[in-house]
Amino acid sequence: MTQATLGFGAMRLPQTDDNDPTSIDMEEFTRMVDYFMEQGFNYFDTSYAYHDEASEGALKKALVERYPGEAYQIANKIPTWLLREEKDNDMLVDIMLERLGIEYFDVLLIHNINKALISKAEHANSFEYIKRAKENGKALKVGISFHEKEELFEDVLEKYGDVIDVALIQLNFMDWTDQRIQSKKIHGLCVKYGIEVQVMEPVKGGTLLNVSDDVKGKFADYSDKSIVDWALRFAASQENVTVVLSGMSNLEQMKENCETFKNLESITQQDHKFLMKMAHEIKKSLAIDCSFCNYCLKDCEMNIPIPDFFNLYNSEKLYHLESNVDLYNTTAKVYAPASACSECGTCVDICTQQLDIPALLKDVADLFGK
Ligand code: SF4
Ligand code: SF4
Repeated sequence: MTQATLGFGAMRLPQTDDNDPTSIDMEEFTRMVDYFMEQGFNYFDTSYAYHDEASEGALKKALVERYPGEAYQIANKIPTWLLREEKDNDMLVDIMLERLGIEYFDVLLIHNINKALISKAEHANSFEYIKRAKENGKALKVGISFHEKEELFEDVLEKYGDVIDVALIQLNFMDWTDQRIQSKKIHGLCVKYGIEVQVMEPVKGGTLLNVSDDVKGKFADYSDKSIVDWALRFAASQENVTVVLSGMSNLEQMKENCETFKNLESITQQDHKFLMKMAHEIKKSLAIDCSFCNYCLKDCEMNIPIPDFFNLYNSEKLYHLESNVDLYNTTAKVYAPASACSECGTCVDICTQQLDIPALLKDVADLFGK
């Protein structure tokens, strides 16, 4: 039986204004924190960047100021893209500790290691920094969150495997054998190097919920468990996995997620085969494989709501709804249409799913006519 627990990922918190990531609905969030703790869970994951830098402060109010320090664990991440020189590590970590009102992190990760950002982390000597952070008591465990292919992961582990306790990786049944995300291969390397695995995107940013009626029917025929339940148990059943993070946005989702983990059942070999088959079917119907992490939004010079457009594109390909076209037109008016993309390429280096965003935006523009 797996020992994995559910972690509360504070990156998709409830908001009072959908267009303002900093407008965290503190009443609902506090209710969620209380429910989570009451159910016996206590692991929280945030980052400097989530909710336009408002996530840590919200967690301070809802958790840190209301519960004794020994009652919870907090993981946080150094924003790799802001590192210019070695002293930036300390400067950023001090800000992160202050925003949360805590003295140390249970887990401190270097955020979003990929081909573009590894050089920033190395230039700022961040691997040495996290090693020292553990020695001087700023963190109990340290590691990386990773968004790249196996090759880079193996390089990182060969160089820094002795420093890394924890790797936060994208792992879900849809990406298990995916050629771009390579969950299985990356997970295999964690096992090989004896590294603790934490899972992000177990339901692929909600993509696994937005599947065709045909796929929903096949899940219903197989068992009475929900697709979310299958996705969480798939992640929790893998070797070395200690925490499965879920970016829960409301109490209802939280109740469902907690239920799964309170009665956690590992998946069988037969279940695994079924899920691989479903992954294949979902992929066939899914047009754009976006995880809706919103990382690309920060630096788009044209202010294009990229994940919203990809979501609408997928929905339109599946269901052909007039409401998709209406919503696209309204959103394009408020922000900018997909056709406004200047192809500057900034978002491509940032994309956690390694998507060719400018090319995909052309498809979006073609589908919606602008
Ligand atoms: S390539 Fe297009 S979508 Fe990406 S950052 Fe540049 S303008 Fe924005
Ligand atoms: S396009 Fe890439 S970076 Fe942007 S939300 Fe989707 S997965 Fe995240």
